[in-house]
Amino acid sequence: MSIKAENIKYIYSEGTPFRTVALDDINLEIKEGDFLGVIGHTGSGKSTLIQLLNGLEKPSDGKIIVNDTVVGEDKKKLSKIRQTVGLVFQYPEYQLFEETVAKDVAFGPMNLNLSEEETEKRVKEALELVGFNYKSIKDESPFDLSGGQKRRVAIAGVLAMKPDYLILDEPTAGLDPAGRNEIFEQIKKLHKKANVTVVLVSHSMEDIAKLVNRVIVLYKGKIHMQGTPKEIYSQSEELKKIGLGVPQVAEIVNELRKRGFNIRPDILTVEEAKEEILKEVRRNYV
Ligand code: ADP
Ligand code: MG
Repeated sequence: MSIKAENIKYIYSEGTPFRTVALDDINLEIKEGDFLGVIGHTGSGKSTLIQLLNGLEKPSDGKIIVNDTVVGEDKKKLSKIRQTVGLVFQYPEYQLFEETVAKDVAFGPMNLNLSEEETEKRVKEALELVGFNYKSIKDESPFDLSGGQKRRVAIAGVLAMKPDYLILDEPTAGLDPAGRNEIFEQIKKLHKKANVTVVLVSHSMEDIAKLVNRVIVLYKGKIHMQGTPKEIYSQSEELKKIGLGVPQVAEIVNELRKRGFNIRPDILTVEEAKEEILKEVRRNYV
């Protein structure tokens, strides 16, 4: 079970003066159980890429293969693919429209022609998966919820389709720190407990450093770097060149190394940094 992208190219407005190559020669594989971060500056191609992964858009060249099905080859299989690869758009709360939370989350499963009973079961499960108490949230109006709660309802709407893969496009954009933590906590739990393969799209390295297992860095429509978060963040100079910040901790470590501190370059957390810096200080100054 995997999603594969083979030699993907995507061009907007082909044949017009507005022609834009949004993706060029993308090859990647997302395996079952992965927690993948896709990072890149605005305009690097992140949103375009994920819309290809669930068959919403068709690549100009190359192939997307979802669990052994080539996307787009058989039109009848497209709705199955969209259900398998759940996509949570940026600002998904704009798509909430029903009068109650339960009805909103039920929208997807209803379209799958499931029984009322099965639909309700899925709605309940999905809302609980994103940390709600079903009974207390189900009759609320989505519009009365906080920003973070609205996002969680929108994510539940996709989970209710029981996707194998959950792809989230900048799920914390525009939220305050509390809302951001709320969303990241829920996503972390989903990956751990519900066994969902997660692709998290972000323009902020700091945000996803501690969450994902693997990072793909997009730059001008190409895969510029890929590796574990530690491998990526230890190259802070390269990241800065392409307009990406690094976690503050990584930046401090990098600065200290430049000044001759003998500490590991691949540090991600404040705890690790503290340990390493103390070790070095004790070696040299005590
Ligand atoms: P990201 O999500 O990383 O910000 P996008 O995938 O939205 O990047 O955009 C990649 C490139 O494609 C950018 O140069 C952007 O301007 C262009 N682009 C995105 N959407 C459209 C569109 N609907 N029409 C034309 N060009 C687009
Ligand atoms: Mg985008």
